[in-house]
Amino acid sequence: MNEDIKRKMKLIPGMDTLLEKEWTAPWQERLGRDTVKQIFGEELARIRNVFLAGEDADLSPENLRVTLEALLEAQTRRRVRPVLNATGVVVHTNLGRSILAEEAVEAAREAAANYSDLEYNLNDGTRGRRGGNGEADICVLTGAESALLVNNNAGAVLLCLSALARGTEVIVSRGELVEIGGSFRVPEIMEFSGAELVEAGATNITRLRDYERAVTEKTSMLLKVHPSNFRIEGFTAKPDRRELANLARERGLIFMEDAGSGLLVKPTDSGIWEGETDVRTCIEEGADIVTFSGDKILGGPQIGVVAGKKTLVDRLRGHPVMRALRVDKMTLAAFEGTMRLYRKKDYDAIPTLAMLRRTQESMKTQASRLAEKLSEAASGAKFSVVPVPDAVGGGSCPALPLPGWGVAVTDHPLGGAGRLQALLRSRELPIICGARDDALVIHVRTLRPGDEAEVVRAFAEPGA
Ligand SMILES: *Cc1c(COP(=O)(O)O)cnc(C)c1O
Repeated sequence: MNEDIKRKMKLIPGMDTLLEKEWTAPWQERLGRDTVKQIFGEELARIRNVFLAGEDADLSPENLRVTLEALLEAQTRRRVRPVLNATGVVVHTNLGRSILAEEAVEAAREAAANYSDLEYNLNDGTRGRRGGNGEADICVLTGAESALLVNNNAGAVLLCLSALARGTEVIVSRGELVEIGGSFRVPEIMEFSGAELVEAGATNITRLRDYERAVTEKTSMLLKVHPSNFRIEGFTAKPDRRELANLARERGLIFMEDAGSGLLVKPTDSGIWEGETDVRTCIEEGADIVTFSGDKILGGPQIGVVAGKKTLVDRLRGHPVMRALRVDKMTLAAFEGTMRLYRKKDYDAIPTLAMLRRTQESMKTQASRLAEKLSEAASGAKFSVVPVPDAVGGGSCPALPLPGWGVAVTDHPLGGAGRLQALLRSRELPIICGARDDALVIHVRTLRPGDEAEVVRAFAEPGA
C-alpha cells in the first residue's frame, strides 16, 4: 500500500468515535445499536475500498453525517410497504396480488392476537381439525363433496400429483404445459412429484383421440391445466371437459383440473367472465378434483384450494407433503372471512371483485373528477381523461379485455412518463402508475378510497 493511501486510511473515523456522536443517539434508539453499527461498518468498508482503488472520498463530518443518515433512513423503510396501485392491473403479482376485504382483515387480526379454536373442538374439548370451516364453505359454494386448503395452488397441484399419481403416468395436452410467474412449470412440478408426464396432441390442437392413444396401463390421471397467462389463437381445438371426464371414467382414471385463477362463482350481474369457467362448473362437468389459488380472482389470502371427490381428498389429507403445505392460522381466518362474503353474495365487499366489476360510467366519472382536481393542483402539466386497457393480472384470464378509464399526464415540467413514474415511486407512499406513448397514465380502476387525494397531493407538491 503506498504512503498516500495509508495516510488517507488513517483519516477514516473509527466505529466507536462515530457511535459517540450525539446525532447517532436517536438512531440507536430507533433501530437498535447493532443495526446502526452494521450500517456504519458497511459504509466505512466502502470508503476504505474507494481509497484502496486510489480514489478520493469526502470525509468531512458534515458529509459523513448526511451519507450515514441517508443510509439509516433507508433502513427504516426496509419493510413491506404499502403502495398505491394506479396500474389498472387488479391482481398485480408484484404488488401482492389481491387485497383483502375488511371482514377478512379483521378475522386475520383476531386470529393473530388471540388463542383460537383452530384445532380444538369446543363441544367436547378434544382435538379438532384445522381448516374445517373454510373447507366446508368451499363445498357449499362449489358443490364439491370435499375440500382441502393448503399453502398455495402450486402446493395443491404438487400434493395432488404426489398423493394420487406418484410412479404413474399423467396425460397433459401439449397446449397446456404452462409456466406461470416464472416458477410454476407443469413439467417440473410433475417431475418433482414423482409422476411421469405424458404429452398428448400438439400445441394448438389436442383431440380426444390424442388422449385415448396416450393411455397405457401405467396411466392414472388426465390433467387439464387452465392456460392462465396466455392464449393460443387461430386454429385451435381441445376436447371439452365432459368428454375428458367420460374418457377418465371409462378407463378408470382420475380427471384432475388445475383451474389456476380460481373463479369461484360467476356473479350473474356482470358480463366480464364470458368464456371463463367457474369451479362449480368444472365439478358439475365431471372433474374429480380441482385446484385453484385463493389470492387471484377469488380475492382472498394466499392459499391453495383442492375441491373434489371425498375419496380422493381423503388420500391427500394423510399425505406427508400435506404437513409441509399447512396453512397459517391468520390465512385460514382471512379465507373464512372472504368465504362469508361469498356466501352472502356480497361481492362488492371483496376488493378484487369490486374492482373487476366496476362500470365504465363510474370509472369515467372518477377519472374526470381526478383530472379536474389535478389540473387545479398542478400548473404546467396537461391532464386528460382517456380510455385505458386494464387487466385482470396475476396470470388470470388473458382473454378477458378489461377496458377502463384513466388520467393521462403530458407536458409536465419535470419530464416524461419514465421520469414521473420514478418520482412517484420514490414517495413515502409510493404511487405505481402506467405509461403509454410517453404519457404517464393513472388508471382509476385499482385506486382505493382515499387514494385520489394522495395522487392529487403528489402532483401538488414540488418535485411531483
Ligand atoms: C397461478 C397458477 C398456479 C400457481 O398458483 P399459486 O397460488 O401462485 O401457487 C398454478 N396453476 C395455474 C394454472 C395458475 O394460474
